[in-house]
Amino acid sequence: MSKDCLFCRIAKGEIPADIVMQNDDAVAFRDISPKAPSHILVITRKHVGSLDAADESIDLGALMRTAAEAARKEGLAEPGYRIVINTGPDAGQTVDHLHLHILGGREMKWPPG
Ligand code: 5GP
Ligand code: ZN
Repeated sequence: MSKDCLFCRIAKGEIPADIVMQNDDAVAFRDISPKAPSHILVITRKHVGSLDAADESIDLGALMRTAAEAARKEGLAEPGYRIVINTGPDAGQTVDHLHLHILGGREMKWPPG
């Protein structure tokens, strides 16, 4: 837990969010500025700045499984969805707490911008 971290505060319930699901490892909630009809963020409960900083203490498998479960719950499994983890400034990471984006509800372009 990082006291001033926005996503830590959401995970603790100190800042409200539209929660899709949560478990001991991760929390899935709707992005405040959606870039697709369904745009869900999945964060680790434990604070870590980015994927690059995630060591063995971070259960990345649990993060991915939570994302798949949230996407299924959202009805995205069949039409499909995209998972994105922006890491560092070139990728456009703006919140320094590991999170993945689930984007769905429309066709995605490839390659991404
Ligand atoms: P990044 O750009 O770091 O990959 O993604 C950060 C995401 O967090 C952005 O899509 C942004 O819209 C979202 N976000 C920023 N602040 C908040 C907030 O207070 N609540 C929610 N639900 N999403 C947020
Ligand atoms: Zn944090």
